[in-house]
Amino acid sequence: GLQRLLSINALTYVHRDSDLRLQMGSGGNHRVHYSLSNDGEHLGNLLFQVDEALTAQELATMESLLACLLFPMRNALLYRAATQSALRDPLTGTGNRIAMDQTLLREIEVARRHTQPLSLLMLDIDHFKKVNDTYGHSSGDEVLRCIAKAIKGQLRNIDRIFRYGGEEFLVLLSNTDREAAGLIGERLRKSAREVAYPMLDHSLELTISLGCSTLLPAESADSLLRRADSALYVAKREGRNRLAMAS
Ligand code: GH3
Ligand code: MG
Ligand code: MG
Repeated sequence: GLQRLLSINALTYVHRDSDLRLQMGSGGNHRVHYSLSNDGEHLGNLLFQVDEALTAQELATMESLLACLLFPMRNALLYRAATQSALRDPLTGTGNRIAMDQTLLREIEVARRHTQPLSLLMLDIDHFKKVNDTYGHSSGDEVLRCIAKAIKGQLRNIDRIFRYGGEEFLVLLSNTDREAAGLIGERLRKSAREVAYPMLDHSLELTISLGCSTLLPAESADSLLRRADSALYVAKREGRNRLAMAS
């Protein structure tokens, strides 16, 4: 809207608390920077880039418009935080079951439409009960957080990892065939073994087991999940710390 009144080349908005960064346009030698806040609540930083330095009159126009932005901005940030927390697991920051169900159905549809492969990795921490029994439940929680972080660090799109159960995670690999999914699964298995737990004052070696399935023609989400789960069961039965491929 500002652009109807002033000539602005680029705009950057950053709200660090919600990990939000928007950028529009490019160029402009002069910069005008605003830190937005309302009643002590930080609402982000705005940076405008313009070709020519703005006059006092133009700055006043800009500032009166920015004042109108504060309440809508606050509402938009609250709305975004609410929708995000409804889809995230609070302990690990991974997607929750609701997010998983939605994403899986959408990905299956996309895979069908574009005739692309789609694979799932279901992973479960080995002997996790022992961690709780030995170090306590809150240390167990920390360990879950560390493992989730390590898995996220290995994946390109962290929005495709979901907490499926207590110590079980599901990774959705779009446009990934069986062979590539197997390689990613192996990478995750190795990285889990190397996770450090700095908040525990004792060393801990944990492993994960994985089951991998790849979407078959006309297969349902339930069946795809079931096959990954059965493969995971095979990995457990064959000794844990391994990856099993669904048939
Ligand atoms: P396996 O190798 O067969 O997977 O053995 P396991 O001990 O990991 O499997 P089991 O399913 O018997 O136990 C899972 C444990 O995970 C039991 C439960 O107390 C623990 N757990 C589930 N959710 C949480 C959680 O949010 N925090 C903590 N600390 N523990 C959890
Ligand atoms: Mg389990
Ligand atoms: Mg387990």
